[in-house]
Amino acid sequence: MSAYTGQVPDTRRPVDWRDKAVCRGQGDLWFPRPGDQIAIHVAKQACFTCPVMLACGQHALTNTILDGVWGGLSETQRVALQRKHPAAALDDPTAARAAILAALRNELNPVQSLRDLWDDRTHTLPGGHIGWIGDNASFSHRGHTYTPKQLAFLLDRGHKAKGIVRRIPECAVVECVSPRHLADNAERYQRRQALEKTARRAELAAAVEAEMAS
Ligand SMILES: [Zn+2]
Repeated sequence: MSAYTGQVPDTRRPVDWRDKAVCRGQGDLWFPRPGDQIAIHVAKQACFTCPVMLACGQHALTNTILDGVWGGLSETQRVALQRKHPAAALDDPTAARAAILAALRNELNPVQSLRDLWDDRTHTLPGGHIGWIGDNASFSHRGHTYTPKQLAFLLDRGHKAKGIVRRIPECAVVECVSPRHLADNAERYQRRQALEKTARRAELAAAVEAEMAS
């Protein structure tokens, strides 16, 4: 967010990062009402394309600016960063920028954040099965809701499941979320087709054999 908000006269100052900010001249957008998650999200997405995001975030942190979205950080995120790091540490540009990137890591890389979540929440079970740690009800992540099985499917197949994700009959471990042991509606249909084909072939072979024997 540019330091020029319209309320403070933009007195002569040397050219700096503020002149390159994407929010320059449209300040209001970067001061959403606290708790207005949609407006905060919109402002953040613009920050994520801004060439001076880190300089801006650092400026807000070192000057303890409380209102608005700065450098992709919401008010809540800046307060959390200031609690976590001593003020002197955030005065150092390199440290401040590293702290900002760490705080925004998941938002800047949503797929990585889902993989991290998967790594945190799963453990290997004997026999090639995978267990989910803790409550296996659906959970929300970046505005999307997943069940552990839907997450397993998405990360493994690279696309969302169609219909319900269930264990395949070959896996007897009730809590298993191994993507290799799961199938969605589309995959179950394909498996059924393949099984029927095999059964028809066996029937035909048996009929041929019976014919030859008679
Ligand atoms: Zn399994």
